[in-house]
Amino acid sequence: MDHAEPVLVTAETLAELRRIVGERNVLDDPAELAVYECDAYTLEKRPPGAVVLPGNTEEVAAVVRVCAGAGLPIIPRGAGTSLSGTVLAVTGGVMIGLARLNRIESVDVLNRRALVQAGVVNAWITREAAPHGLMYAPDPSSQPACTIGGNVGTNSGGPHTLKYGVTTNHILGFEMVLPDGEIVWLGSGVEEGDDVDGIDLRGAVIGSEGMFGIVTRVLVRLVRAPQEFKTLLGVFESVDDASLAVGDIIAAGIVPGALEMMDQMITGAVEAAYHFGFPLDAGALLIVELDGLSAGLPEQTDRVIEICRARGAREIRVAKTEQERADLWKSRKRAFGAIGRLSPGYLTQDGVVPRSKLPEIMRFIQETSCRFDLRICNVFHAGDGNIHPLILFDERKPDEVRRAIAAGDAILGRCVELGGSVTGEHGIGVEKVDFMARQFSVETLDVMRALRAVFDPAGRCNPHKMFPGGKRCAEFAQRKQIAA
Ligand SMILES: Cc1cc2nc3c(=O)[nH]c(=O)nc-3n(C[C@H](O)[C@H](O)[C@H](O)COP(=O)(O)OP(=O)(O)OC[C@H]3O[C@@H](n4cnc5c(N)ncnc54)[C@H](O)[C@@H]3O)c2cc1C
Repeated sequence: MDHAEPVLVTAETLAELRRIVGERNVLDDPAELAVYECDAYTLEKRPPGAVVLPGNTEEVAAVVRVCAGAGLPIIPRGAGTSLSGTVLAVTGGVMIGLARLNRIESVDVLNRRALVQAGVVNAWITREAAPHGLMYAPDPSSQPACTIGGNVGTNSGGPHTLKYGVTTNHILGFEMVLPDGEIVWLGSGVEEGDDVDGIDLRGAVIGSEGMFGIVTRVLVRLVRAPQEFKTLLGVFESVDDASLAVGDIIAAGIVPGALEMMDQMITGAVEAAYHFGFPLDAGALLIVELDGLSAGLPEQTDRVIEICRARGAREIRVAKTEQERADLWKSRKRAFGAIGRLSPGYLTQDGVVPRSKLPEIMRFIQETSCRFDLRICNVFHAGDGNIHPLILFDERKPDEVRRAIAAGDAILGRCVELGGSVTGEHGIGVEKVDFMARQFSVETLDVMRALRAVFDPAGRCNPHKMFPGGKRCAEFAQRKQIAA
């Protein structure tokens, strides 16, 4: 299969697909396909040969069987909010959109779990569970749009990952259509007591970026919503001071629900967009949310305030009302959306460093910004050491694109050198395949490939993602070489 040559979907195959899902649920008009040419990683674009929108598991399986018969690549797609090109149709083929699998089938209050279809939007689950005092904990900032199937694909995190864990900690089991069309269930079943022993294939699939099959229904864990929140905004003169406060809070034995940082540049954009009332002259803002039982929260709050002050916070505001807390989170979670005020384009990086290395990596990002003459702003999950430098560039200027890619590579390379990783939550996709060889040994990568081959021996399910050495989008590879 040649990268540069998209695999064509024949008229006969399109007709077969239309017989399964209906005329209007197969798209092959170039104008419609343009919507699906990339995800939120916009540096690479390639439309699929067709998009199919099945309405239930059986239709997904039938579509997958037709594609298997025709030897076509299949690309599962949720909402397409991936930030690393995990949904790019590198060699064309059939994109299978799960948007019509959008029902919450049941909420089991007694056992604290919900059965939802793969296209259900993340935020809908908590909305449905809230009247029962329950919530679905993983809360990516994209949660009003991203789907639970996509969350499984990328093992999503979010601001509250620090305390509650990532997607894999909250998925009990799921139904999946294998690349040959067989329907399987992995992990705990829907019936009470239907738990599994043996190898955790559920865990292997979560985070596999749609390369193992198409998830159609998911049994998620619900947790008790906290009795109370204390949400603080620490105002610091510098990113360095705020980073040191992050380490001190954790070292004091406190595990906040969330511990998020915004630097001055992103704060300016967020404030201009959402008017929360952030101080524009602050070097860095720290959002610390403590949650849980009311008992003990005031003491923890006092301790966090004390630590922040000791690290030079000039002001600490505590949200006085639920509305104020909600507004604060809305501003934080929509930060990426405010970047349009700063730049026509941006590259979101997603790296991890040990928490103790936060000051060092933040300084390195600053140096990288100067070195490549590009503005870089930061809004990230500081408590997890999960950084998200946002590299600003103008896609119409090829030299800026090259410098943005090179700056991103430099930052991720430094994360690895500091003992971290090239992804905390956004996945590898096409963006970071080259880094896999720097982070893992040849043997480890071979084991990963072998595991993938168990599920997808022909390598047709979301090809050209994650693993280096495979053929990649020629144009992009060339751009990276020039950038280097
Ligand atoms: C503004 C913004 C903020 C974000 N914030 C966060 C954040 O805080 N934390 C975080 O982790 N991510 C974040 N992201 C990234 C993104 O939202 C997540 O990766 C999310 O999980 C993707 O979900 P999706 O439905 O859009 O999936 P898609 O982007 O459509 O797909 C993602 C991957 O999952 C696969 N996939 C999708 N559906 C299925 C399925 N049913 N079966 C099998 N594979 C499937 C795809 O093939 C692809 O590999 C953010 C993105 C944006 C644009």
